Amino acid sequence: MITIYKPTKEEWIGLIKRPIITTESLNESISTVLKQVKDKGDVAVENYTSLFDGVQLKNFRVSKQEIEEATTSVSQEIKEAIKIAASNIKKFHQSQIIQEEKVETTEGVNCWRKSVGIEKVGLYIPGGTAPLFSTLLMLTIPAQLAGCKELILCTPCNKQGKVNEVVLYAAQYLGIDTIFKIGGAQAIAAMAYGTETVPQVYKIFGPGNQYVTKAKELVQAEGVAIDMPAGPSEVLVIADEVADADYIAADLLSQAEHGTDSQVVLVTTTRQKISEVTEALEKQLEELPRKDLAIQTLKNSLMIELSTIEECIAFSNAYAPEHLILNIENAEKYIDLVINAGSVFLGAYSCESAGDYASGTNHTLPTNGYAKSYSGVSVDSFVKKITFQKLTKQGLKNIGKTIEVMAEAEELIAHKNAVSIRLKKLSNE
Ligand code: NAD
Repeated sequence: MITIYKPTKEEWIGLIKRPIITTESLNESISTVLKQVKDKGDVAVENYTSLFDGVQLKNFRVSKQEIEEATTSVSQEIKEAIKIAASNIKKFHQSQIIQEEKVETTEGVNCWRKSVGIEKVGLYIPGGTAPLFSTLLMLTIPAQLAGCKELILCTPCNKQGKVNEVVLYAAQYLGIDTIFKIGGAQAIAAMAYGTETVPQVYKIFGPGNQYVTKAKELVQAEGVAIDMPAGPSEVLVIADEVADADYIAADLLSQAEHGTDSQVVLVTTTRQKISEVTEALEKQLEELPRKDLAIQTLKNSLMIELSTIEECIAFSNAYAPEHLILNIENAEKYIDLVINAGSVFLGAYSCESAGDYASGTNHTLPTNGYAKSYSGVSVDSFVKKITFQKLTKQGLKNIGKTIEVMAEAEELIAHKNAVSIRLKKLSNE
């Protein structure tokens, strides 16, 4: 089912590539969607919604009545789960708000940094194959903690023009009511450029499929900020000989069921574990409602046998997975070896689903190897950090000469003068 490898180091390079659509054709088709929405606004959004989502919509904005109806139809059990997850996510993200100190770098020269929430942010909530209301919690809670003033939300609707009721309930629970029934690249374009209905935002957040991720990448090149390339989900599990094969199989399937463009990887030190996991996968697959999707994903996936746990982690660092599960004894012992990963799950009981929903960490994470240079979403993603400084007379006297010398050496005499003029007046006082 999953292809098995015992690769040499030279073969790693081929194995760390993700199974994605060829970038060229994707670039072209998504560029067209962006241009159409930029030029034609709502009309283009309407056309693409009809083409890609199979629904003809005249009004994209979710009405108050739709939100109210959702609130009443969602079960108490789901409401309670959302409350607990939201509380944990809030607790964890709140801890990221740190008041920075003012620093006196030289006597009379004070510098400090202040975090200010980005005023207008657009949140994309995937909804193509599964209504990811958990993503709504993961994006909205840090945005609110950061102090963002205007939050808008785009999410695809079903063929009847309805947004999933739990998504609407979660939005209402968090106090968001600007919700648009738009998905895919057309949603990203609408938020990036603004249309008659959708307000333009300064930064776009949220995971999505390859179309969404490509659209984010292309609008970023035009100057609209994005959180990161958070594309099709991935998990890499490192397992030792004592790891429970049922747990490993369940974790692999939890990502495999996302969509056919996802990838799951098992890296282990024993061939025996590969056989056990293959058997467990076959058993568990039978019970899954999204079995067909998962089977497709498994065909794109890998099982890798290496010699030591250290070597397994080195492979993982080269792959840079979105999620890394260390299902090994004394997992904490290996933390320092992990240098490229979006989010790490330590030990047999830290299943990835915990981080996906309710432990508190964010599930919007870099995929496709971007964990080498990007972090997952956090409160930091929603703020700009503005620096301030205050120089007293004495402060300017203390560093004036340094500035003059450097400005003159760079041949920027107006820069030097800004100091010299002041120092001259001060010397006359
Ligand atoms: P989605 O909302 O991302 O995409 C659905 C939209 O894709 C539709 O509304 C449609 O307009 C558009 N679309 C469909 N076919 C198209 C085509 N041929 N051309 C152009 N546009 C087209 O929902 P999804 O498809 O379910 O994908 C969700 C993705 O999010 C999954 O790949 C999942 O793995 C990923 N995800 C990632 C993270 C992360 O942090 N990286 C977290 C959660 C989910």
